[in-house]
Amino acid sequence: MSGIYAQLGIRPIVNAKGPSTRLSGGPMRPEVATAMAEAAGVCVDIVELQAAASAAIARHSGAEAGLVTSGAAAGLMLGAAACIAGLDPAAMARLPDTRGLKNRFIMSRSQRNQYDHAVRAAGAEIVEVGLPDRYAGAGVRDAEPWEIEAAIDERTAGILHVADVASRPSLAEIVAIAHAHGLPVLVDAAAQLPPASNLRRLVDSGADLIAVSGGKAIGGPQASGILCGRRELVASAALQMLDMDYPAGLFVPPAGFIDAGSLKGLPPHGIGRACKVGKEQIVGLLVALELFMAGDEDAMRQAWTATITDLAGALREVNGLELEPRLTEAVPALAVVPHAMPASELLRLLALGQPVIQPDPGELDRNRLVFRPTCLVPGDVQRIADRLRTLLRADRRG
Ligand SMILES: *Cc1c(COP(=O)(O)O)cnc(C)c1O
Repeated sequence: MSGIYAQLGIRPIVNAKGPSTRLSGGPMRPEVATAMAEAAGVCVDIVELQAAASAAIARHSGAEAGLVTSGAAAGLMLGAAACIAGLDPAAMARLPDTRGLKNRFIMSRSQRNQYDHAVRAAGAEIVEVGLPDRYAGAGVRDAEPWEIEAAIDERTAGILHVADVASRPSLAEIVAIAHAHGLPVLVDAAAQLPPASNLRRLVDSGADLIAVSGGKAIGGPQASGILCGRRELVASAALQMLDMDYPAGLFVPPAGFIDAGSLKGLPPHGIGRACKVGKEQIVGLLVALELFMAGDEDAMRQAWTATITDLAGALREVNGLELEPRLTEAVPALAVVPHAMPASELLRLLALGQPVIQPDPGELDRNRLVFRPTCLVPGDVQRIADRLRTLLRADRRG
């Protein structure tokens, strides 16, 4: 299985972080890999394939339409481009130059994150509101609905919301404000699955466009994602991603996907042409989505719980490690606190050693490494336990 990587001189890693772009996503299910290989051998009309994908995404999510993108970040860029340009081919042709166009997205200051660069890449400007005050000792208030509303003006293109249980204001409040002003809500829901039911819940919230990662929980190709929502906005995003190199009269997209008759003209290649997706990604994502939506979440959780319980058991005799199993979380995990060194040092030794072991560094500021089960393969629990035992023993001698 690792033959191709051996040929390239590349070491497999123990991925205890979960699907993550810098760790090459997660291991792909064989059904998905097989479907991608099958798709790779035959040429099809890419618009027809995206239209079929749209119907499948609509069926699973309840959204009017959907598009397979090269990731959630690409979905955010295309979603912003769709909100800004609508179905105007001249505006599509101009992006990211937004002079004369509504291009501002309002966002809670506390939600600013690395991925909003994708929204700015479309030519959008982010208007931050709210004061998540962590220093005055009065408690963190975050942004309030009235502050979002007060920031709306004639240059506002939409409201950008990062979905999370802790997000304030709530998505329902954001949608109510946006729709009262005729504005779309673009949601970064990249990492909101599992549970699978979140997809429909987000669509049901009334949000206009939702970007989801295909390479995370869904288990699709690493470079895949979904942008779903209102038909007209998805059509705009599709037009700005598809290859538009059509001889006159030959652009005949399925009518339920893109209503070509309603366009003033065909746009040239748009801003999303640089993040195109191939037939293999589209097919892989669709097969993975089907499996994910039909999956037995209880059985999956039980398997993950067993992995975390095994890992905690194997680490119990390792000296100098405090263990915090978190078995009630959506994805069970094991946090560890090393006593002999800072967690950051243990992370460095794990990530730069042999075998390479990559836990989640997201709680380093609390001096914890978090081990997650979703991308572990058979043998990894033992590899992690052996390596930690060796490292912590060596450290005691040293
Ligand atoms: C992972 C992630 C993204 C990017 O998703 P890709 O599919 O890798 O492009 C965007 N936003 C958030 C909050 C994420 O967690």
